[in-house]
Amino acid sequence: MAKDTGIKYTKAQVHCRGCGASFEVGSTKESIEVEVCSNCHPFYTGEQKFVDTKGLVEKFQRKQQIAQKLRQRKKQTKTKSKQQTNQSLKDLLQNL
Ligand SMILES: [Zn+2]
Repeated sequence: MAKDTGIKYTKAQVHCRGCGASFEVGSTKESIEVEVCSNCHPFYTGEQKFVDTKGLVEKFQRKQQIAQKLRQRKKQTKTKSKQQTNQSLKDLLQNL
């Protein structure tokens, strides 16, 4: 086995940008940065949380809200027009 491979295997500090936790692992690097770790990942915490760096999730949720509002408005207008036809039919019958 080669004795000197030029690779330095030391302990590396892992910093989590998501929750700020840091821990050590064996690595050839001195420091590692991660966005999510076992301390804050939804799989381990059981909470719903998004790792969102560009605001894309927020944008999507806003769009969903707008779509829901539009859907409700459409429903309301549909029921309204139905009522109007019912009323007019009743009126027609009463007028006979
Ligand atoms: Zn974390």
